Amino acid sequence: MTAALIQARELRVEYPGRAGGRVRALRDVDLDILQGETLGLVGESGCGKSTLGRALLRVIEPASGRIEFDGTDLTRLRGRRLRRTRAELQMVFQDPFGSLNPRRRIADIVAEPLLRARGATRAEAAKAVAELLDLVGLGAEAGGRRPHEFSGGQRQRIGIARALASSPQFVVADEAVSALDVSIQAQVLNLLSDLVRDRGLTMLFISHDLGVVRHIADRIAVMYLGQIIEVASRDDFFAAPAHPYSRALLSSVPVLRPGDTRQQEVLEGELPDPANPPEGCLFRTRCPIAIERCRTHAPELREIAPGRSVRCHLPLVSSEQHLASSD
Ligand code: SF4
Repeated sequence: MTAALIQARELRVEYPGRAGGRVRALRDVDLDILQGETLGLVGESGCGKSTLGRALLRVIEPASGRIEFDGTDLTRLRGRRLRRTRAELQMVFQDPFGSLNPRRRIADIVAEPLLRARGATRAEAAKAVAELLDLVGLGAEAGGRRPHEFSGGQRQRIGIARALASSPQFVVADEAVSALDVSIQAQVLNLLSDLVRDRGLTMLFISHDLGVVRHIADRIAVMYLGQIIEVASRDDFFAAPAHPYSRALLSSVPVLRPGDTRQQEVLEGELPDPANPPEGCLFRTRCPIAIERCRTHAPELREIAPGRSVRCHLPLVSSEQHLASSD
């Protein structure tokens, strides 16, 4: 069994509510991201995906819980040790243009993490930047130009080169291809897949687009209202999502299930207000198979098969078959 590079335990993020009090954006998240894998994190907008990605990098401070990176408790690191460890953890953003300083040359943008986090000399940085720009398919000559001279896909390649400059072990790609045309998406996805394989990276790939996630992820984690509600291998997940919410998400993308004659499940209603969540199961107000127990007892995330965990009293393995309830 592959070891976990990142382990989140009871990770909680809160922010001040409009009516006072605290609103939970992450609710005691437990999640392992295995060494060398790409974990796809999916869910509706506002469910906490980006908050989780940022909390794992300590860009957002958790209210409580623990994040272990390669055996080190990230939540306890401060000062220089935190800065040094952060070089191992990088992010590729959704908006490559917004995240690139328009006044700076590409070579300076990509070199910055090398100079800052790795203490490289100017000469070392220049050599590494040329190699990185080659690696992402832009060529070393791109270093002398500025961000506005590039297309969206090329700018995303620059963002990837910058993320790789400090030789990270772990990368969070947050909606990294969402702003790109479909044909360019495929190119950038292939580049990310190659980099994960060739450089031994571990990646959390956050997306609302299940088609994209299916293309790149080894395993899938589904979030709902700040909780992880299902974790499964990609093949198991797309063959038979076990949580009613996962099934509804997948049903809303019919192209993913050609020839599938099972009844489509429509996801009705809005994501509840995180400041005023339902009692019991958080998905109860939208769940087509809710029972009384769902109102009175919040389900735990439990393993229903090797490598497969679901937070539901009535997890499903297909349209026809319910696994035993946890009653
Ligand atoms: Fe639906 Fe109940 Fe499962 Fe929640 S616990 S997803 S309400 S069946």
